[in-house]
Amino acid sequence: MAEVFTKPSSQLVIQTAFLGDLILSIPLFKQIKSRYPHGQLILVCKAGLGDYFLKEKIVDQVFEIKKNDRGSYQKIIDSLNQLNVDHLFCVHRSVRSQLFSYQIKAKNKIAFKSFLGRFIFNDLIEFKTSWPEALRQLYILSSTNAKIASALNQQDWSYLNRPDASGHLPPIPATLQASDLGQVNNGSSKKIAIFPGSVWATKKWTEDGFAKTANYFSEHGYQVFLMGGPDEKDICLRIQMQSPQCQVLAGSLSIADSVHFIKTCALVVANDSAPTHMAACQDIPVVSIFGPTVLRMGFRPWSSKAIIVENNNLDCRPCGKHGHQKCPLGHHHCMKQIAASTVIDAGLQLINSNNLSH
Ligand code: SF4
Repeated sequence: MAEVFTKPSSQLVIQTAFLGDLILSIPLFKQIKSRYPHGQLILVCKAGLGDYFLKEKIVDQVFEIKKNDRGSYQKIIDSLNQLNVDHLFCVHRSVRSQLFSYQIKAKNKIAFKSFLGRFIFNDLIEFKTSWPEALRQLYILSSTNAKIASALNQQDWSYLNRPDASGHLPPIPATLQASDLGQVNNGSSKKIAIFPGSVWATKKWTEDGFAKTANYFSEHGYQVFLMGGPDEKDICLRIQMQSPQCQVLAGSLSIADSVHFIKTCALVVANDSAPTHMAACQDIPVVSIFGPTVLRMGFRPWSSKAIIVENNNLDCRPCGKHGHQKCPLGHHHCMKQIAASTVIDAGLQLINSNNLSH
């Protein structure tokens, strides 16, 4: 009788959102790996984002999609259909991701509830709008994992999105933390990373505010690094004009290398954007400056070492899911009214409490 070889089973996650959301998938990746330790965990993500997840062994294989390139979708579909996919978890809720999932062979297909989803997936899970994003994504496992379902259904996790008056966030229960990826900084680092950029213009705090913050820390013995992607090099160079002691690293490090660099820092200062989540997933203290967005949308840094700085005196917040390229009211007070001293105080609080914990 011919010998029959069975391909090892794989678990597949489709998450083609921005980097910040992908980082908030880490608790989900971690749970899938611990529940299915023998198969591969495969990630489908946006082009350019998979490197970090692969290098850190958070997932075993990555397929990167080039949006608007049909050829790239088809190649990935063909490759995935050569594998033995046990569960397909589609955590990205776009129609495009759902139609992509339709073309992939998998024993079980799971997604969040939607009209179209009824024709594609075996199981549709409630999207818990008020919960933090990391837990909303983790909840997709509730149909396959009774333990997770019962742990998550014990309470309403929306309280995790509510900071106290000084911007400190409620701590995340130990069992739900992002990862044990390990922190390198032992509290003695004198490096600070500032990420002034964002894909959305209104989500950027003022260049003057970043420069004053950089100057304060430079004058108090810290090495300050201005960081971001290649598109953020110009803003970093402008800030450096006002804060010449800083070094500009924007555009010179990959995402994986930026995360490694962050691990050696005492503090990260960033807008409500991917670097906030990069710092949080490494448990590095982070001051995150929120403008047109608010925490109840669910995108808190998934860490207990974070302070949210925001302007709570405006009725116009939030003004959009992501912010806009221009303030609809023209004044951009959500960011312009945030003083550098508030951000500096928050940074000092985090550095001091982190030093005390070591
Ligand atoms: S409308 Fe309000 S929240 Fe939106 S960008 Fe302008 S100031 Fe900020």
